[in-house]
Amino acid sequence: MDMKDSRFVHLLLFSCKQCSRPLAIPMASEEGNLERIDGGIFDVKCECGWSQKMIGLEASRHWVASWYGPRGNNFGRAEECRSALS
Ligand SMILES: [Zn+2]
Repeated sequence: MDMKDSRFVHLLLFSCKQCSRPLAIPMASEEGNLERIDGGIFDVKCECGWSQKMIGLEASRHWVASWYGPRGNNFGRAEECRSALS
């Protein structure tokens, strides 16, 4: 994907089911809504050897931030955030 077309960055935070290490997956997207990414499937891998395909909804946290241009130098504030705990 061309980053020039990506206006948002999503950051999904998973937790390793074996050692509980935090595993973050960053993703550029033209869309800022959480739902589309929450429905995606991600290959989550941990350095302990654990790996699993997980859907975005299984992430313990999901942040979205504005992302301007290829340098992405204006990370701004997180515009939307969801927590599995809330
Ligand atoms: Zn692990």
